[in-house]
Amino acid sequence: MTQNQNQTSAATKKISTYLTLIVLIVVVLAIVALILAASLYYSGDYTAAGILAVIGLIALTMSTFTLFQSQRQAVQMKIEIPKVMTTIECKKCGTKTVREYQRGDYVYKELDACPKCLDTKQIITAIYKEVKEKEKTYNV
Ligand SMILES: [Zn+2]
Repeated sequence: MTQNQNQTSAATKKISTYLTLIVLIVVVLAIVALILAASLYYSGDYTAAGILAVIGLIALTMSTFTLFQSQRQAVQMKIEIPKVMTTIECKKCGTKTVREYQRGDYVYKELDACPKCLDTKQIITAIYKEVKEKEKTYNV
């Protein structure tokens, strides 16, 4: 489970780094095109200047859009990873506590004494994936 999460985030990181690099190259090329367009405009070649300016602007718009889109995807991928929760119960007074899963948790594992009863040990009664956030993502 933990390994899966790490692999997913590593893959996301790799993709976004790769995309950022491509976008950066396109942005640099677009800026070069715009500078060339400006110098061509001043030297009187309006047609070439216009073409270069359009190419530069399209490249800038597209790279900005790609970067924005990839960041949105990365955020969505992060949310989709469900949290694993552990339910702790005291058999004597029935006090239920829910906390995030910790390494080494298993059902029927005895934990520290109940804060209310003090003499009875709390037991893990359930370990489950938090599905609330996942449903939210599907609705969006
Ligand atoms: Zn208790």
